[in-house]
Amino acid sequence: MLKHRIFYEAKKGIKLKIHDILHHIDCNPYNNNIENLWLTNSNRHGKAHRSMRLIRIELVEYPYAIISIESFREYLKKEIIEFDRNLGIYFIT
Ligand SMILES: [Zn+2]
Repeated sequence: MLKHRIFYEAKKGIKLKIHDILHHIDCNPYNNNIENLWLTNSNRHGKAHRSMRLIRIELVEYPYAIISIESFREYLKKEIIEFDRNLGIYFIT
């Protein structure tokens, strides 16, 4: 999926490098709003996804062992969960 990369480059007036990663903060790959895209690298991207997984485990929801991605998105919308762009992690507010 390259659309968001082209969009990001156009908006920011930069050329992304091959190892640059754009993470969709709200976990919706179709939401290419500039505020929803976080430019990062592979290590930090992995860390962000690990923090997401830890929260999904922490906020257990019957009948799932972890909360669904849909619930995760809902919590983000309600600002129960937020993403820290500097630390590159999700956290429960
Ligand atoms: Zn990601």
